[in-house]
Amino acid sequence: MQTRFTERQLADPEIAASEQILRKCVHCGFCIATCPTYVLLGDELDSPRGRIYLIKDMLENDRPATAEVVRHVDRCLSCLACMTTCPSGVHYQHLIDHARVHIERTYQRPLLERWLRAALGCVLPYPNRVRAALAVAALARPFAPLLPRSLRAMLDLARRRRPVEASASSPRLTPVAKRARVALLEGCVQTVIAPEINAATIRLLERAGVEVVVVGGCCGALVHHLGQEPRAHALAASIVERLHTELTGQGLDAIVANASGCGTHAKDFGYLFRNDPRLAAKAAAVSAKARDITEALATIGLPPRAAGVPQLAVAYHSACSMQHGQKVDAEPRRLLAAAGFEVREIAEGHLCCGSAGTYNVLQPEIAARLRERKLANVSRTHAAVVATGNVGCITQLAAGDGPPVVHTVELLDWATGGPPPPALQSGGAMATDGREPRADR
Ligand code: SF4
Ligand code: SF4
Repeated sequence: MQTRFTERQLADPEIAASEQILRKCVHCGFCIATCPTYVLLGDELDSPRGRIYLIKDMLENDRPATAEVVRHVDRCLSCLACMTTCPSGVHYQHLIDHARVHIERTYQRPLLERWLRAALGCVLPYPNRVRAALAVAALARPFAPLLPRSLRAMLDLARRRRPVEASASSPRLTPVAKRARVALLEGCVQTVIAPEINAATIRLLERAGVEVVVVGGCCGALVHHLGQEPRAHALAASIVERLHTELTGQGLDAIVANASGCGTHAKDFGYLFRNDPRLAAKAAAVSAKARDITEALATIGLPPRAAGVPQLAVAYHSACSMQHGQKVDAEPRRLLAAAGFEVREIAEGHLCCGSAGTYNVLQPEIAARLRERKLANVSRTHAAVVATGNVGCITQLAAGDGPPVVHTVELLDWATGGPPPPALQSGGAMATDGREPRADR
C-alpha cells in the first residue's frame, strides 16, 4: 500500500512504525472472511482492511479521530484473527494499538462512555479495587437482572469460588530449588474472580519439579487495549523491572503467564519499550523468556497421571490471544490428551467468543452474539466441559448456557493429583463424589 507521510511525521517513531505496517498491506482482502465483526456485521469498515484504510487516512492526514473511525475501531476485538490469515505479514496488532492511543488523545467521547472507560482503567488493574467493586456489586445483587451479563458472570465466578488455602492462593516463593525456576505472572482481575487458576498452576508446576516465584501486579494489557497509554506503560514498566530483577538475580528458565491475554502482552514488552533507553534491553529480555503455561509445561513435561480421574470429553476453546496472538495452538490440546482427556474441536474455532478484555462490557451486543455463536458450536461437541487458557473467555462463556468452563491448568492439575476444578463441582459436570462425569466420555 502506498503511503504519503511527510518527513516530519516520520520523525515520530510511532508513525514510522505504523507506516511500515501499512506499506505491507496489499489490499488482498484475505483477512476479511476470518474477521468476527465482518462475519457478524457484513460492513467492510468493520473488517481489518476497512479499518486499515480508516487508520491510514486518520494518521496520514494528522486528523483527530472522527466518530466514524472511533465506531469501527471500537468494534474491533483485537482478536488478531486477521494476523493469522494475512499472507503479507501485516502487523495489525501494533497498528490498531496505535489507533487506539490516537483516539484517546484526540477524540472526546460522550460523558457516560468516558466515565465507564475511566472506571475500567482505574479499577481492573488493581485486585483490591476489583474486590471492592465486586463487593459493591454484590450488594446490588437484587438488581442483578439489570446488570450486563458479563458483570453478572464475574459476580457468579467470585461467589462460587471455593476457599483456597492461603499458601496456595497468594504464594510468594516455593522453598525448594528443583528442575527449573519460573516466574508466574500473578495477574489482576483473575486473582480475585478465579484464584483457583493460580493455585492449580502452582500445584501443577511444583508437582512437575519446578520452583515458582510469583510476581504480582497487572501487566497493563487491559488498559493498553483501552488506549490508556500512560497507565498501561507505567504498569508494564513496573512489572518489567521486577521480572528483570528476578531474571538477573537467581535466574529464570521462563516467565509464565496463565492468562493468554497477559502472555501476549508480556511477549510484546520488547516492542512496547523499544524506544525507551532505560527499559528497552530489560523489556526485550523479559519478552524473550515469556511463555504461556502450556508452552512451559510442554517443555518441562507433565507429572504422572493420578488414578481415578474421569476421562471427560473436553471441548478446547483456543483463546484468540493464545492462537492468534501467541500462535500457541497444539500444546494445550496435546497436554489435555496426555492427561487422559478426550479433546474435541469446536467448529469455527478461529472466531472470538466476544470476551476480548473489556470488549464484552463496552460492546455488549456484539459480544453476546459472538458468545451465543460460540456456545452453539460448543454444544455440537457434546463435551462435558470447556477448557480454555484465558480467564476472560471463562467469564464470557460462563455467562451463557453451556457446559462448565474451566482453565486448562485446572484439568491438568486435577489429572495429576490436584482437586477437581470448582466449576465442575458446582457446574454439575460431576456427581457429588467428585469422580463421575455427567455427559459424554
Ligand atoms: S483484530 Fe479481530 S476484530 Fe479486529 S480487525 Fe482483526 S480479525 Fe477483525
Ligand atoms: S490480508 Fe493482509 S495484505 Fe490482505 S488486505 Fe488484509 S491486512 Fe492487507
